[in-house]
Amino acid sequence: MSGKDKPRKNSHRESGRKKAQKSGSGISQYIMGAVIVAVLVLGIFTMGKKMFGGGSQTSGSDALVTEADAKQTTEQKADNSVPLTKLEITVPDSNVRVGEQIPLDIKTEPANATNTSLTWTINDDSLADRFTLSDSGMLTMLDGAEKHTVTLKAEATDGSGLSASLDLRVYPKIDPSKPMVAITFDDGPNPETTNVMLDAIEENYAKCTFFVLGQNAEYYPEVVKREYDLGQQVGTHGYSHQQLTKLQGAALTQEIEKGVKSVEAAIGTAPVLLRPPYGAYNDTVRAEAKKYGLCCMNWSLDTEDWKTKNADATYQMVMKAVDGDVVLLHDIHQYNVDAVKRFIPDLMEQGYQLVTVSELYAARGETLDPGTIHFRTDPTEAKEETGPAADAEGAAVDGSGTAGSDAAAGDKAIRTGSDAAVGDRSGEADGGAQ
Ligand SMILES: [Zn+2]
Repeated sequence: MSGKDKPRKNSHRESGRKKAQKSGSGISQYIMGAVIVAVLVLGIFTMGKKMFGGGSQTSGSDALVTEADAKQTTEQKADNSVPLTKLEITVPDSNVRVGEQIPLDIKTEPANATNTSLTWTINDDSLADRFTLSDSGMLTMLDGAEKHTVTLKAEATDGSGLSASLDLRVYPKIDPSKPMVAITFDDGPNPETTNVMLDAIEENYAKCTFFVLGQNAEYYPEVVKREYDLGQQVGTHGYSHQQLTKLQGAALTQEIEKGVKSVEAAIGTAPVLLRPPYGAYNDTVRAEAKKYGLCCMNWSLDTEDWKTKNADATYQMVMKAVDGDVVLLHDIHQYNVDAVKRFIPDLMEQGYQLVTVSELYAARGETLDPGTIHFRTDPTEAKEETGPAADAEGAAVDGSGTAGSDAAAGDKAIRTGSDAAVGDRSGEADGGAQ
C-alpha cells in the first residue's frame, strides 16, 4: 500500500515542477528516490515474510506466542494436586509392523487426576526418534525400527513415580507394491523341529502361517503359543488329519470343531483359516467351515517335501516362489529344518516379504471370507473360486469330477491329495509318536 502511494506522489511532483527540481535539487530527488526504493523493498520483504512464514521478525513474535502457550500448558500440567494411583498401558498385539498404527490402551486412575501427561522413552538410544505417538494414543514405529525388539517406557510426570512399559517386536513394513509370499507349514507342531524353525523365523523377523493338527496342538500347546506369540498366523488343519470330503454330518463337524477348539485352547483365539488335509474340499466342507468362520486355504506352490525328504530339494522348491504364492511344506520333518534356516533369510534377501496368509490377502485388497477356497492372491483366481469352477475343482478332489483348465490348482490338490495320503499320514505318525 505505502509503496503504491509514494510513486503517485512522486509523479505528481514531477509533472508540476519538473525542470526546477531537476536543476535545483538533484540530490534531494536522488534521496527521495532512494527512500521510495527502500520503502518498496521493505514492503515486498514484509509481504514475502507473511506469505512464506519466514523472516526473523514474524516468526520471532510467533515463537513468543507459542512459548507463552507452552508455558501456560506446562503450568496447567504441573498441577499435581491429584496424582495418579494407577497407570496401565497395553497394545492389542506386541508384534507390530513399521508404519502400522497401533492403538494404545492407556488406563489411568483416578478419573480426576490433575496431571496425566507422560514422557516416553525407548530402551535403544539409536531408535529414540523412530516412533511417534499421536494425541489420540496411536503408536507408529518408523523406518529403521524394524528387526528390533524394543521396550517403550511411559513415565508419569506428576511426581507419582508411576511408569508402564511395552515390549514390542518390530517387523518390517509391508509394501504392497513389492513381492511377497506366504510360507505355510502343515501337520505340526512337533517341538523338536517346529521350535528350531521358529528360531530362524524369530531371528529374521519373518512371518509365516502354521496349520496345526488338533491332536498335536493338544500335545504341545506351548509350541502353538510360541508361534502365536511370535506373530505367526495359526490356522487349523483339522483334528486328526481326516480327509474332510470323506466325512459327513457329525463326523465332519467334530473333526473341524475339535481342530478349532485345540487352537483356541492354545492361543486364546479362534483360527480363521482351515487347511483341509490333502487339500480336499467340496461344498459340504466349505459350508461346514463357514459355520466356524473358517476360510479354506490351499496352496499354489507345493514343495513336495514329504516326497523328496531332502533339505536342499525343499529349499530349491521354495526358492521358486513368485509374488503372491502360498507355499506348502511341513514343520514336523527334521529334513526341513535346514531348508527353513536357508530359505527364510535368502527369500528376504531377494526382496520377498515374508507375510502371513491374512497379511498377504489384506495387502492385495483380497478378502478371505468364511466358506470360500483360496490358493494364492490373484484377481483372476478370486473370480473363479466363487463361480462354478471351484465346485468342479472340489468335485475333482473327490475324484468324481473332471479337471478343466481352471483345475490347475485343483489338480495340484488332487495330486497332493493322493500322494500326500502317504506322506502326510507318515508325518502325522511322526508327530503323534512324540
Ligand atoms: Zn497334512
